[in-house]
Amino acid sequence: MNGRRCFAVGLIGLLVCSPVNAQALVAKSTTAGRSVAITFDDLPYVHASEPGAEDAPDRAVAANHAILAALARYRVPATGFVVEQRVRALGLTGRDLLQPWNKGVLELGNHSFSHADSNTLDADAIRREIVGGEATIRPMAEAAGRALPFFRFPFNHVGDTIEKRRVIEALLTERSYRLAASTIDTSDYIFDQAYEHAFTRKDKAMRKRVEDAYVAYSRRQIAYYAELNRNVIGYEPPAIMLLHLNRLNAATMTRLLKLFREAGYRFVSLAEAQSDPAYAQSPRMATQFGPMWGYRWASERRVKVDGSREQEPPEWVAHYAKEK
Ligand SMILES: [Zn+2]
Repeated sequence: MNGRRCFAVGLIGLLVCSPVNAQALVAKSTTAGRSVAITFDDLPYVHASEPGAEDAPDRAVAANHAILAALARYRVPATGFVVEQRVRALGLTGRDLLQPWNKGVLELGNHSFSHADSNTLDADAIRREIVGGEATIRPMAEAAGRALPFFRFPFNHVGDTIEKRRVIEALLTERSYRLAASTIDTSDYIFDQAYEHAFTRKDKAMRKRVEDAYVAYSRRQIAYYAELNRNVIGYEPPAIMLLHLNRLNAATMTRLLKLFREAGYRFVSLAEAQSDPAYAQSPRMATQFGPMWGYRWASERRVKVDGSREQEPPEWVAHYAKEK
């Protein structure tokens, strides 16, 4: 999951430095017209199918309610990417939780049947993952007169070879999908592991500490990726925030949305974000990792980036998550 740094380090020394397009720099100022699309992966609930999670339906309901309330408060469009197996793991609750995501400014997206890693699958298996991922959401969207325009691959793995990437693109075209991009990653799953551990230990003070560290780290990551994209393609395209449907984001969603507001962003749909020319085609490169689009654009354009400038989450977070 955290492959972007390996990827970034791999870029150093391999690529020559090329200046960004000066005209584009002139055309777009640093913060004017900033926008962001908010997206969630692993709906209806990231931990839905983990063993021993008997109260997963209750947790899923609470997390969805909190996130939807925060989105509504700020009138934020959002796309929720669904894993069919996790819908089924929650029984009737799973399907019910998707209904609000199929209305108004919210929309459903396909995130595969079982969250399998495309690096390990052949074309037929990838097709089964895509088609199987539609079982609940395709009829639901169509009954509401809606399309299902976006697919996002688990781990953002979209081709570990050029051949695989071409296969993936052909499969998406066959099913009338656009590949969903992502430009901001906050490693929320690492913080969430610590957060869940604090729940298990009934340590409320630690939960608060994790929330605060996560929001602080998110603030840095939002700024980091804006700068990365500016340096690589010469302007800030609409950003696309990658989050997961978990209890940490449920607890911090209002604070995360405020970070964007304070930095001058307006909230747009994923379709509006990806109408920017930067997203006209998927970056033409292959990687076994799941880097954000800024790193992919850098590879495609042979722009050298120093991935070490991207800070890791604080060490104590991952350490605490593993404590017995
Ligand atoms: Zn996922």
